[in-house]
Amino acid sequence: MPILIVLTLLVAAAIWFWSGSRVPSVRRNPCDWQPTGFRTGPMHEFNCAHCGIKGFGKDGKVPTVCKRGLGR
Ligand SMILES: [Zn+2]
Repeated sequence: MPILIVLTLLVAAAIWFWSGSRVPSVRRNPCDWQPTGFRTGPMHEFNCAHCGIKGFGKDGKVPTVCKRGLGR
């Protein structure tokens, strides 16, 4: 019954997509991103004054996620 496998994958993908798109709005950029002036191509480096972590944002936008709490 391949249709069951396809349905399972679709449901799993929908849940993953839904939860993945929901997380950034829940904890939306709690950090205090300060641009360091360093950039590589379109990626601008920022330093989080809140938790002292560096992040990269594209086209001058601040990073959307904080790596604090990711176990690093
Ligand atoms: Zn932070």
